[in-house]
Amino acid sequence: MGEYRGLQLVVAPTDSEHRGYFEQARQHRLVVQRCGACSKLRGAIGAACPFCASPDWSWHEVSGRGVIYSYQIVTQAVHPAFADWIPYPVVLVELDEQRDGAEGEAVSLRLIANLVTSDPAIAEAEENVAIGKRVEVCFLDLDETMALPQFRLSE
Ligand code: ZN
Repeated sequence: MGEYRGLQLVVAPTDSEHRGYFEQARQHRLVVQRCGACSKLRGAIGAACPFCASPDWSWHEVSGRGVIYSYQIVTQAVHPAFADWIPYPVVLVELDEQRDGAEGEAVSLRLIANLVTSDPAIAEAEENVAIGKRVEVCFLDLDETMALPQFRLSE
């Protein structure tokens, strides 16, 4: 169990997929699932491959470097814990490791995360966010077992 902005974050012991993701993040490694059948990487954690439906997968460490594919500025706090954070950006990051195929095959590897400053507890300012800007992963440690992957602007 970790704490984030006063919220208790709990991952069920039986949820091996999300638990593994946050535990790897605590080691400051960004991992995604790699399909054991077709070898494609996927950004949305799930039990089966969205490309070939295989249930076989393993963790694959990625660089954490990519670009802002899209973003949204959150202006209404969805929870009181975020009241003093608005407005803040949430970004859809397209990682460098797997882009769409040459023939339009939609396989790009995208993750949703907060965009933060050099301090992972502080949101990046709205005027600094733009589609296409380079970003890199950083980690906000929550406790001894969990960290949240976040992204920050890079060169
Ligand atoms: Zn697959």
